[in-house]
Amino acid sequence: MSAPAVELVDTHCHLVLLEERGLLEQALESAERAGVTQMVSIGLDVDDSDRNRQMAERYPQVWFTVGWHPHTPTAPDAAQLSALGELLRHPRAVGVGEIGLDYFWRQGYHEVPVEVQKRSLRSMLELAQAHAKPVVVHDRDAHADVVAELEEGLGAARDEGAPAGVLHCFSGDAALATQAVRLRMVCSFAGTVTFPRTEALRAAAASLPDGSLVVETDAPFLAPVPFRGRPNLPGYVAATAAAVATLRGRSAPEFAAETTATARALFDLPGNAGQAGR
Ligand SMILES: [Zn+2]
Ligand SMILES: [Zn+2]
Repeated sequence: MSAPAVELVDTHCHLVLLEERGLLEQALESAERAGVTQMVSIGLDVDDSDRNRQMAERYPQVWFTVGWHPHTPTAPDAAQLSALGELLRHPRAVGVGEIGLDYFWRQGYHEVPVEVQKRSLRSMLELAQAHAKPVVVHDRDAHADVVAELEEGLGAARDEGAPAGVLHCFSGDAALATQAVRLRMVCSFAGTVTFPRTEALRAAAASLPDGSLVVETDAPFLAPVPFRGRPNLPGYVAATAAAVATLRGRSAPEFAAETTATARALFDLPGNAGQAGR
């Protein structure tokens, strides 16, 4: 089969959760149809990260990250940190995350105290430094504290010029986007940018300098318009990329090429045949 004209990377999906919902095959097919030639499947804790490792070993278009989600009720202990470190040595492990802070408090969502979340985040930032990996950061209603923690804990372990990480499912405004750039963080736009009443988010997407945006699905969550209300699939990242292209006054293929190059620089993914990859 010939390679699709436009290639995209879904920088953030949860293939293990899609598999649990019986949607893995559909997820991989949707990606192929939409030209999503690479996917980063995101880990949530030791066990989930290990299952994502298996996913990456099974499918050549899949890479994985090693994470400790802020909803995890305890901070990682020494044994868990060493298990996460072991996973990070895998050749297809491309980042540390998701990690972060979540201050959205609703009954039944999560009940992890801020202090526990901060302990988890700090341990994981150290792990990322030790392994010179980019971080995948979850920030829900916690912008100021996330910026403060990243300022403290990011360091400069990665090569000069390589992004320090990504603010996944970016939910801030143009001011937060500027702070992200200062921290050498890439902003990742999800289906939320296609939702109504997200003017500040759209302004952020329009304001960022070239080379500092990527796109993601967070599948199975947050399907973009026109798929809203269904389980999200990695192929739907094309709808988000097209929406962001419009906001930036670019053609869809132009923006796809740019954002794909940024995603590859972020996670050190190979370029495909015929492209000047790294
Ligand atoms: Zn998240
Ligand atoms: Zn996620």
